[in-house]
Amino acid sequence: MTSQLKYQLCILFALAFLASCATVPHTGRKQFNMVSDADLNSLGIQAFNSVMQQESRSKDKQLTETVRAVSQRITQAAEALDKPKFNWDVELVERDVANAVCLPGGKIIVFTGIIPHAHNEAGLAAIVGHEVAHAVARHGGERLSQKLALQSALGLSGEILRGRDGKLDQRTRLILGALGLGAEVGIVLPYSRIHEFEADRIGQLYMARAGYDPQEYLKLWERMAKIKKPPIPVWLSTHPTDDERIAKLKENLPAAMREYENAVTKHGAGRAL
Ligand SMILES: [Zn+2]
Repeated sequence: MTSQLKYQLCILFALAFLASCATVPHTGRKQFNMVSDADLNSLGIQAFNSVMQQESRSKDKQLTETVRAVSQRITQAAEALDKPKFNWDVELVERDVANAVCLPGGKIIVFTGIIPHAHNEAGLAAIVGHEVAHAVARHGGERLSQKLALQSALGLSGEILRGRDGKLDQRTRLILGALGLGAEVGIVLPYSRIHEFEADRIGQLYMARAGYDPQEYLKLWERMAKIKKPPIPVWLSTHPTDDERIAKLKENLPAAMREYENAVTKHGAGRAL
């Protein structure tokens, strides 16, 4: 081992020691965390503003209203179950890309291209619930922390969180990638399997608490699993579907059905989209 590598590893371990540990709700997993909630949420807002400056909102009033209503039910469920105290925002962006994201701090962006894949309100609730779960579980922060630790070990610390000009430079691309908008900036960065299983478990609970039948979550993934022909939707390319994922969702179904029983109003599958 070279002395430079030893030095870099020492810095990495020191950073890991100094970093606080956060705990993921519903799974209890401890996660590596180098970014404070305030910094993470501010990065989320910057990323949101930078995307919204470049994109156009959908002009379809009825669809925008539906996306807002479904998303609001999900965010209310997230607040009821996990109290993230986010400053929520929902935008429907007119772009033929099958994607959706919830940035840290609660900024949700749904692209019109994902609506046909959602199929009905419950499918949309499943997609938004899954993305909100990634944000509440701080998965973006965890990915960013890993990248920061690596950059620090390479002597590049400070370059990532510095600069707030909102331009789509290298730093912004890296942050957007870590926060789940990678496909929008030309980097397809799938979440790890651990993050995916957690977002499924938590997202399915949110959907059920929001009053949508959690069995529809499974149906969404089963529909997704059948899409084999290109062009593969972006959301599917960053969320690979497999038998293990569907098996885990089935295991989680009884807990989600209990949440569904707690829902104040039940919407079933909701309206077709
Ligand atoms: Zn995901």
